Amino acid sequence: MIYKTYGQTGIEVSAVGFGAMRFDDNKNLDVGAELVKNAYDKGINYFDTAPLYVDDKSEIIVGMAIKEMNKTRAEKPFYVSTKSSKATPGEVRENIESSLKRLNVDYIDFYHFWCIITLEQYEERKANGVLKEFEKLKEEGLIKHICVSTHLVGGDIEKMLGDYPFDGILLGYSIMNFPYREVGVDAAAKSGKGLVIMNPLGGGVIPQNPELFDFVKTQSDETVVEASLRFLINDPRITVALVGFGNQKHLDEALRAVDGFKPIDGETVGKIKDSLQENFNDLCTSCQYCDDCPQDIAIPKIMDIYNHYKLGVGEKDIMERLMWHWGIKLEDNNLGSCTHCGNCEPLCTQKLPICERIEFVKNKIDAYLEKQKAKQK
Ligand code: SF4
Ligand code: SF4
Repeated sequence: MIYKTYGQTGIEVSAVGFGAMRFDDNKNLDVGAELVKNAYDKGINYFDTAPLYVDDKSEIIVGMAIKEMNKTRAEKPFYVSTKSSKATPGEVRENIESSLKRLNVDYIDFYHFWCIITLEQYEERKANGVLKEFEKLKEEGLIKHICVSTHLVGGDIEKMLGDYPFDGILLGYSIMNFPYREVGVDAAAKSGKGLVIMNPLGGGVIPQNPELFDFVKTQSDETVVEASLRFLINDPRITVALVGFGNQKHLDEALRAVDGFKPIDGETVGKIKDSLQENFNDLCTSCQYCDDCPQDIAIPKIMDIYNHYKLGVGEKDIMERLMWHWGIKLEDNNLGSCTHCGNCEPLCTQKLPICERIEFVKNKIDAYLEKQKAKQK
């Protein structure tokens, strides 16, 4: 395992962290706990969870593993990261009390001011005294480091980091969207923050399209997943790449990425960046933050379909994906019911034109159905 120093804390954390947000089997908690423990045994020492992840079971699963891991914590340290998105000090207090209990720990190493999507939201929560409450928790020894988790664009990240001395920051970044957050990543590095990356595999788009991301490979025998992780491990600004491990296969692949890591020189990094087609910047990362449509349009699923169009996937495969992967009936879809209410686009972590893309997919479905009808005549 490769270890890097987290910002100015002096803590050595594993270059790949355990993102406990997508266990394949979330009914059998023992299976998830075993996966967490396996990762710890293999040298991963940064474990990221949150209330609500995995139908609110993630902290419980990680806590089950920690019960075992606590036995060796003195000689083999590990670090726990969790979060609170609550808007008032009282609710934050309730959150941390629950997290500590569920995680079987006396303190949280990295506690995140969670899910900052707009600067207004940041200011509002700060004005409510939430950051003051975080400071109190730190004085009481219940948290060790105050961090922030955000989906802001690069320039806004810079402003926020200039406003409050967070110890570290958690943000989405991958070979798919790095231009979008470059300024923020630079700002984190320049101010000496720990920088933890979520969504390093573009929400699954990279492993699902290995041929399209082939350009990221720098070793002949590596997979795109290994190459994508190595690209991030190679970046000195990034402390931890957080992988959402669903099963042992995911864990093994990430461990191979670290074990087989060879430094990538600046010229090769430049070539990889140049190879990114321009339109790769604006792919949906499946973060789900927009998934609250009053018309019940399954926005992230439709955005995933749009990604597949952009990535050059064939029409028949896309229609099959809509039907069999996402369970959306072609003839009976509700995509035309968008009222342009304005709910979703401000929530989008990638600032994507959601309504326009929904309409694009709707038109594609209509045209496909017309073609099918014509064939039957
Ligand atoms: S703008 Fe359209 S897709 Fe977005 S939340 Fe409103 S109705 Fe739903
Ligand atoms: S459209 Fe935006 S907010 Fe919604 S899932 Fe995609 S990236 Fe996330």
